[in-house]
Amino acid sequence: MDAKYRFGAFLFVFLIMASWEYFKPRRKNDQQRLTRWPVNLGLMILSSILVRITVGGIVYKCALIAAEKNIGLLNWIDLSGIIGTVITLILLDLIIYGQHVASHKVPMIWKLHQVHHTDLVYDTTTGVRFHPLEIFFSLVVKVVAVFLIGADPVAVIIFEVILNVCAVFNHGNVKLPLAVDEQLRKILVTPDMHRVHHSIYRNETDSNYGFSISIWDRIFGTYIDQPQDGHFEMKIGLPYAREIEDGEFQKVLMLPFKKNLSS
Ligand SMILES: [Zn+2]
Repeated sequence: MDAKYRFGAFLFVFLIMASWEYFKPRRKNDQQRLTRWPVNLGLMILSSILVRITVGGIVYKCALIAAEKNIGLLNWIDLSGIIGTVITLILLDLIIYGQHVASHKVPMIWKLHQVHHTDLVYDTTTGVRFHPLEIFFSLVVKVVAVFLIGADPVAVIIFEVILNVCAVFNHGNVKLPLAVDEQLRKILVTPDMHRVHHSIYRNETDSNYGFSISIWDRIFGTYIDQPQDGHFEMKIGLPYAREIEDGEFQKVLMLPFKKNLSS
């Protein structure tokens, strides 16, 4: 059920972002769309098909089960309505922040998450560049989170849509007016804020983990305001995967199974 909302919202925001970065890119001469887009969008399509034919809608279904069987924090304290929805959204976002930090710190999970970071260019399609196994891992995290929280089923759908839309937005090769960026990033993650996380420098990659709400990075001390080399000059990607051929579809799919990569 949530798939059509997610896809509709994704398509709408994707078309806006793709047009925006085509006509007014933040970083120029940097696109390589013909080689990168089929890989990034292909990964998204492959993951969507695999999820749909296996465990499609599982997070939403688990939220319904949690409500029916009275499982999880919000169901125990009987907190429903708009407050339950808002608390569910905030807690799910915190858990996704935690999952992202763990994806960088735990070698097994990093093997999957590095695929997202091997993109040598940062644009809106980077926001959907995830290995299918990372998508399944993320589903497991969300299912556990839903049962612990006693998540509101409607909030689960809203959260999935927000997460999708925010990922496509904050990976955009676009520039908001600086004053707007400054105000917006007090609450939400902006493209300039998340771009820092895709820097080749380790200290910058270990920052700005948030996808939607920006406060977690400030609270947990992982916030970096701007990249040290500036947005035009900064190098995107990982130090050990700099060859364009490494970005071929099959190679990207096999990347988590390769040995001797840095963590
Ligand atoms: Zn990351």
